[in-house]
Order: sequence, then structure tokens, then C-alpha cells
Amino acid sequence: MPSLSMRIQFKFLLLVLLGALPAVLVLVLLGKAYYHEATEQAEQTLLIQAQRLAEQHQAAIDRTKYILAALAQHPVLQAMDNPACEALLAQQYTPLREVLANLLVLRPDGQVACNAKAPEKHHRLDDRLYYQRAVARGDFAVGDYMIGRTTGTPVLGMAYPLVREGKTVMLTATSIELGLLSEVSHQALYGQDLHLTIIDRHGAILLHAHGGVDEGIAGQNIADTPLGRKLLELGPAGTSELPDLEGEPTLFAHIPLGPEAEPYAYLALGLPLETLAERYKTLERSQLAGALLALVLGLSLASLALTHFLHKRLRPLIEAVRQIREGKAETLALPSGVHDELGELSTAFNDMSSTLASQRNMLLRLAHHDPLTGLPNRLLFAEQLEHAIQVATREKRVLALLFLDLDHFKTINDSLGHALGDQLLKAVAQRLQEQLREEDMLARMGGDEFTLLLENIEGPWYASLVAERLLGELSKPFEVSDNTLFVTASIGIALYPSDGEDAQLLIQRADAALYKSKAEGRNNAHFFSDDLEQAAAERLRMEAGLRQVLDLHAGEAKHPATEAVERGELLLHYQPQIRLSDEGLIGMEALARWHHPEWGWVSPARFIPVAEDSGLIVKLGQWALREACRQFKTWRKQGLPVQYVAVNISAVQLRFGNLVKEVRDTLHEFGIAGHHLELEITESAILHAPEEVIRKLNALRKMGVRLAIDDFGTGYSSLAYLKRLPLDRIKIDQGFVRDMLTDPQDEAIVRAVIALGHSMDLEVLAEGVETAEHATRLRELGCESAQGYYFGRPAAGEAFPGQD
Ligand code: C2E
Ligand code: CA
Ligand code: CA
Repeated sequence: MPSLSMRIQFKFLLLVLLGALPAVLVLVLLGKAYYHEATEQAEQTLLIQAQRLAEQHQAAIDRTKYILAALAQHPVLQAMDNPACEALLAQQYTPLREVLANLLVLRPDGQVACNAKAPEKHHRLDDRLYYQRAVARGDFAVGDYMIGRTTGTPVLGMAYPLVREGKTVMLTATSIELGLLSEVSHQALYGQDLHLTIIDRHGAILLHAHGGVDEGIAGQNIADTPLGRKLLELGPAGTSELPDLEGEPTLFAHIPLGPEAEPYAYLALGLPLETLAERYKTLERSQLAGALLALVLGLSLASLALTHFLHKRLRPLIEAVRQIREGKAETLALPSGVHDELGELSTAFNDMSSTLASQRNMLLRLAHHDPLTGLPNRLLFAEQLEHAIQVATREKRVLALLFLDLDHFKTINDSLGHALGDQLLKAVAQRLQEQLREEDMLARMGGDEFTLLLENIEGPWYASLVAERLLGELSKPFEVSDNTLFVTASIGIALYPSDGEDAQLLIQRADAALYKSKAEGRNNAHFFSDDLEQAAAERLRMEAGLRQVLDLHAGEAKHPATEAVERGELLLHYQPQIRLSDEGLIGMEALARWHHPEWGWVSPARFIPVAEDSGLIVKLGQWALREACRQFKTWRKQGLPVQYVAVNISAVQLRFGNLVKEVRDTLHEFGIAGHHLELEITESAILHAPEEVIRKLNALRKMGVRLAIDDFGTGYSSLAYLKRLPLDRIKIDQGFVRDMLTDPQDEAIVRAVIALGHSMDLEVLAEGVETAEHATRLRELGCESAQGYYFGRPAAGEAFPGQD
């Protein structure tokens, strides 16, 4: 992908340039050091060149000295015979004419005796310094530089005296041209930007050449210029930076010419500093440019190589990240084994991918399985069912769908606790699973509901066989943390394709069949049949009807009860509760009745569960409370000696309704004292009640309201638990009372409940008293109150006239 490498390359180049900065700095510093060194080196070179020039000059003088000494020994010259002398001189001079200005022989008084160049000239030279010095010392002597009379150029005169017995007999003399020196140095200086300056002892310029070319300013006195002063200082050879004759700063090497004590001239060799800097600068610039070019080139190459390398290594990683993003992490397998950071990254990616994959699998498992039992959940089951139906359709096979629901599981859960309930569910799931073939699919729908899919069965009989076997297995006791529990289950079966051709319909019909099994006393299995569907439909219709009639009541806010009575749809019947000692009336239990315009009387055993399932019970209970209180008020006005009215309260109301406030408001509305109202709560509703429910019960008790436990004996209440509740009465379930005369076990239970109640200072009321024998036996057992058909069937409120 070009965009990637471009971006990286750009950044990398930027980094490279930043990184090159210190290198450039170092180069510049090095350049400075180099300049310094170059200057020093230039000084050295200049000095050496100047010394060489001085040596050449001295060598020329020395050579001349020997020539003069040799000539002085010649007898012809000593004779000073003029023509012979001149002939010899001319002969001797010929090969030297390039080097020497002339050759002369002088008499001791300075008179020229003979002369190589101009034989006619015989002037006196006794005023010359070299003559005077040579005579005075009696040895070779050099004079001063001076502009030659014949040549017009600077010449240096010198003489050699021939001394015999302390007296100068004659002298040989000559002069050398300074121009020679410049010619000698011409070659060395040519092409260089060098100044050669020679001045005499008075500061007059003898020679000033630039780049080997004579500038022709001889004679000019520079004694007052810095250079002149420096040269005339009479110091030894050295270097210094001074302005040159044009005032340009220049590096000079200077050296005196001639004997140290009395130099006859001074030589300076100058190099303009600008030239030096220029040379250095071009050097520096080209070096710097070269180094930079090499640096940038090298780094660019490195950058390219690295980008290529990164691209090659990063590409799979980027590809991997994309795969992970697309959720294909499992397929990731990056090359690993390279031991650098990218290699580690690859390994980390591989690890991450496998972690992700296992997490995904775990999530999938969690989403499709029930965490408690590990069985497939509703979701997975639905998918599987769809799939199975497709296969069965294609292969023309029969499927069975079983719905299994534990009987009274709620009671177990409420009385023994959810933890135990969970363990039981787990054990049930395991036991069911053990009975199944590999290809059968058992799933948990939630709560105590299980579904089972039997694929590829030979006929309905197979499904019923499996159902029988499952019911048989479940009926064996379960040992769950030190408890022996007995459970039964109800099963509904629907078949594909006879009962339904799609999953939705099959599920509905298995559910309907289950409902039928429940209705028929539980612990059995039923196949779906058309009338079952009618029952399920009826349930739905009932809910709709109930909703309608309750909405109607709610709409008539002020006096709904009257309206309800008039409509004759929803009403309360009352059953008397009596004192067993004298069979006198103590209270009335309100029991809901529904008279549907089409269906006639509907049993509360049918519509109360529907109301509870749909939540309509809250509204229904609210209505029943008001209606019962209204009736109680009427009775009291009529003089009926009823002490309280008892109203049934559902667990749903207790947990989710606003019961305390409703009770307070209703009592207030009808002006009834708390103790005239008794609330009947089933045993299972308050078992393991949350603290909040207990608080509500206490609040009711504070108002004086009486609390009774309904259907006592059917739950698994513990005495310790009951003690925590603010109770007034226990109502023994009619199931025990009904059979107590024939079943000694039931009688034992009734006896125990009475004893238990009394031990806790609770009144005990027996329900379902149908005969005088029941009443007598209960009286004997010490039970103080009772209720049942024997004393009176539930009837409309008006059926109990006042007893004025
Ligand atoms: P329950 O609270 O146990 O009510 C007593 C039931 O026993 C009533 O049935 C009553 O008619 C019946 N009964 C009374 N004496 C005898 C007898 O001697 N022998 C026999 N076999 N039965 C007798 P009902 O009226 O059908 O009510 C059924 C259940 O519906 C009630 O049982 C109660 O749990 C519930 N229920 C009724 N009205 C309401 C209500 O307003 N609110 C709530 N939450 N539940 C209600
Ligand atoms: Ca009751
Ligand atoms: Ca009851």
C-alpha cells in the first residue's frame, strides 16, 4: 500500500534530516579547526619559502665571494696591466653575465684598474661601502643594495681584498642584481597570490613582485608603513599578520638578508588573508557539500531500505489487525520466530488472536447455553429446531417436540431457597440428559422449563415412550445437599408435521399440551390435540376479558363496586368464619367471582392464576379490598355481628403492589378500624420473603390489620422463620382437614399445626369443614375457629341479613 510507505518514508526522512543536524555541526566545527590548521600551515610554508629565498640569496653571494677570491689570486690581475687585466676579466665575466652586474679590479685607493663590462670607465669607487669595509677588514665585504648606476636596478656590491704583509695590494669587486633573486624565486612563486617585498636598510623598496611579476615600484620608501617598521625591527625570521602596501590584511613571513648583525636588506613574503580564507572556503564548502550529499544519500538509501523492510514486516501485521476487526481472528497465523520487536509483535498478535478466538467461542457458548445447567438455551434450541424442521421436511421424517415443566418447583424454591432450587435444577438436567440419545437435544428454556427435540423418530409412540421414561426417572428421589427431594414433572408433546409445520406453531402446541398435563393433576404427559389449543386460546381470551372488566372498574373511579354489581360481571362472595366453641360468626372471607356474559361463572381457580401471570391481580386485589370494606361497612350498619372481613392477597401484590398505602387509604375511606380487616397471605408467598415484604407486613400490623397465613401446611415453613413474622392466624389447608377423619397422617398434621400455632400465640382456623364430624374432631383437637360448607357456602353480601 503506497500511502503507508509514503507516510513512513516521509517521517523517516524528516528524522534523518534532524539526525543529520549534529553531523553538520560537527562538520562546521571541524572546518573551523581545519581553517586554523590551514592558517598555521600557510605560515609555515611562507616562512620556509622566505628562508629558501634568503638562502638562495646568500648562496649567490657566497658563490660570488669565491669567484672574487679566485680572481684576486690571478697573477695577470695582480700585475694590473690594464689591457691584459681587462681581457682576462672580460673572459671570466662572459659565463657570469647572467649572474653578476660586472667584474672589476680596484687599486688599493679605490680607483678602478680594469673593468669587464665597460673598459673605458676608470672611475673611483672609494665611496662605496663594500670597498671601505673590505679595506678596513682586509676581508670579503658586502655593501648595501643600491640602484645600480649602469643598470638602474637594485644591485648589491661586494669586494675581495688581496692582502700581503698587512697591506691591501688590490681588490676584486662586483655586484649582483637583485632581479636575479626575483628570477630565481619566479618559478616557485608563479601562479601563487604571493607578494615578495625586499627593502634596503633605509626602508626603500628594492623589489616588490606579485605572483612573480615585478611591480616596478623600486625606490619607494616604506619605512613608515607597518610592514616597513616590522622588517626594520631587526628581529629574526618570523611571521605576522599585517596590512600590505595596499592596506589589505596579509600574512607575512619576514627574514633579514645578510649577516645577522648588519643585514643589507629585508625580505618579506606575503599571502593575503582573503586568499587564504577563499582557499579554505572553497575547500570547506566543497567538502561540506560532499559530506552532506554523502550523508543525505546514505540516509535516503537507508530510509528506503528501512521503509521497504518495515513495509514487508508491517504488512502482515496490518492485514492481521484488519482480520481481527472483521472478526476473523481465528484464521490468524503470523510468521514468528524473528527475534526483534516486530517479531514479538507478531507473536503477541498470534496470542491475541487465539485469546480472541477462545473468548469468541466462550461468548458464543454463553449466548447459546444456560450457565446453570450447561444445556443449550432457548436461542440455540430455536435455531436447532428450525434446522431440524428443514431436514425433516426434505427427508420426510417425523419430529417430536417435548415441553417439560417441574411440578410445584416454585414451592421448593420458595421454601428451601434458590441455591437449593438451582442445585435441584442441575440434578434434574443431568438426570434427563442421561436418558437421551446422542442426537436428542435437551434445552433449558428458563426457570423449571425444559424442551426436548427428538429427531428422526419412527412414530408418536417413541415420543410417549421417552416421556414415560423421563417421568419415571424424575420421580426417583433427589439427594441435594443433605435434603431428599421429590419432584414430578408434566410433559406436553407436539409432533411435526402433524401438529404444526413451523417452529412457532409446534412450540405453541407443545405448550398447550403441557398446560393440559398440568390441569390434569400433573406428573403426566399429553400429546397435543385440537381441544388443547382451545384451552390455550381460552386462557388468552380470559386474560383479555379480565383486562376489559378491570379497566371498566378503574374507569369508574368513585364507586366502581356498585357498578360492578350492577353489571354483574366481577363481584365478591363471602364465606363465614365461625368460633368452634359456640359456632358464632366471627368474620367473613371475601372470595372473588367472575360472571362472564358469554362464559357464565368462571372459577377463581382458573382466573386468579391468569390474573397473577398477567399482573392484572394487582388491580383485581385493589378492587377486592375496596369492595370487601364497603360490604363490611354495610353489614356493620345493618347490625351483623361480624368482627372482620378477610381479603385474599396474592404474592404478586405483596411484592410489587403499593399494598400498605392502599390498605391505609381504603380503611380511611370507609372509616374502618384496622382490626376489622384481615389479610390472607399464602404460606409460599411469605416464605423467603425479602426484607422489604417483612417491612410491609409490619407496617400493616401497626395499623391494627390482622394477618393470616392461608393454605398452611402446603409449603415448607420452618417455625423459626414464622416467628419473625407479625402473624395473628394460621389457616390449615383444606386438603388436610378433608381427609383427617380417615387419614391418620393428615390428622397428625392438623394436630401438629394446631400445637404449633398455639405455641406461637396464633389463632388456628381450619378450612374446608364440610361435616359435623369434622367440626367435632377439630373442637377436640383444640382448634378455635373454622370455615367450610358445613357452616356456610360462599354467598353474595346481601345473603347475610342483619340480626337486629
Ligand atoms: P382459598 O383462599 O383457600 O379459598 C377457599 C376456597 O375453598 C374457596 O374456593 C372456597 O369456595 C373453597 N371452600 C370453602 N369451604 C369449602 C369446603 O367446605 N369444601 C371445599 N371443597 N371447598 C371449600 P374458591 O372460591 O374457588 O377460591 C379458590 C381460590 O382462589 C382461593 O382459595 C384463593 O386462593 C383464590 N381467591 C379467591 N378470591 C380471591 C381474591 O379475591 N384474591 C386472591 N388473591 N385470591 C383469591
Ligand atoms: Ca383464603
Ligand atoms: Ca385456603
